[in-house]
Amino acid sequence: MDSLMTCLAELVVANRILAREGVVDAFGHISVRSPDNPERYFMSRSRAPELITRDDLMEFKLDGEAIDLQDRTPYGERFIHGSIYEKRPDVHSVIHNHSHEIIPFGATKNITLRPVAHVGSPIGHNVQTWDIRDKFGETDLLVVNMDQGRDLAATLGNGRVALMRGHGAVVAGSNIRNTVMTAVYLQVNAKLQLMTLQLGEPIYLSDAEIDNCFKRQTSPLATDRAWEYWVSRAGVGDL
Ligand code: MN
Repeated sequence: MDSLMTCLAELVVANRILAREGVVDAFGHISVRSPDNPERYFMSRSRAPELITRDDLMEFKLDGEAIDLQDRTPYGERFIHGSIYEKRPDVHSVIHNHSHEIIPFGATKNITLRPVAHVGSPIGHNVQTWDIRDKFGETDLLVVNMDQGRDLAATLGNGRVALMRGHGAVVAGSNIRNTVMTAVYLQVNAKLQLMTLQLGEPIYLSDAEIDNCFKRQTSPLATDRAWEYWVSRAGVGDL
C-alpha cells in the first residue's frame, strides 16, 4: 500500500492530468481513499482541478464531514465519493466528471455506452445510467447528500462506470492511476462510439474481448507508459 504522502502527491498530479485531458473542466473531481484509514478519503477543496496543489487537499469521513475544515469550502458533490467507498471496499479512487462526450449517452434511452475499441475496455460490460429523477424528483441534478449518493452507488453496483442522466459520470477504480485510465478512455470510447454510430451499426467488443483487453490495458506496463505520457503532457513532472 502506498504511503499517505505518495498518495496525496499522486492525487495532485491526477487532478492536473484530468484537466489536461479534458475529462474535467472548472467542475469535476477525483478522490483517493486514505491508505491509513479505509473510513476516510482525500479530495481537494472546491476548486478547478487544473489549479489544485497539495495545500488544497482535505480529509473527509465517508459521510462527507471534513476532518479539519478550516475556512475551506468542500465540493458540494463530495457525497458521490463517500457513498461509493462505503459500498465498495475494492474501490480506492473515484472520479466524477461532466465530460461532454459522455453526456449524450446518458441522455438517450435507446443507446448504451459500450466498448467499440480495445482501449475502451476499462468501461466494462454493462454501463448503467442513473437518473436522479427516478427517486428524488425534479432537482438541480447535483448529488448533494448521502441518500442521493447511495442511490447512485447502487446503480454503479460492481461496475467501474455509471452515467448520470443529464449530468455526467462516475468512475471507480482500485487505485488513482487505474481510475484515471478508465476516465480518460471512457471519454475516448464515447467519441469513437458516436463516430461509429454515424457510419452504421457498431460491432462491439465481446464480453471475452473486453476482459482480455482490460487485462492488457491495466497491466503495469501499459499503466506506467500511459501515466508517464500524461504527466509529461500535463507538465507536472516536478510536482
Ligand atoms: Mn457534477
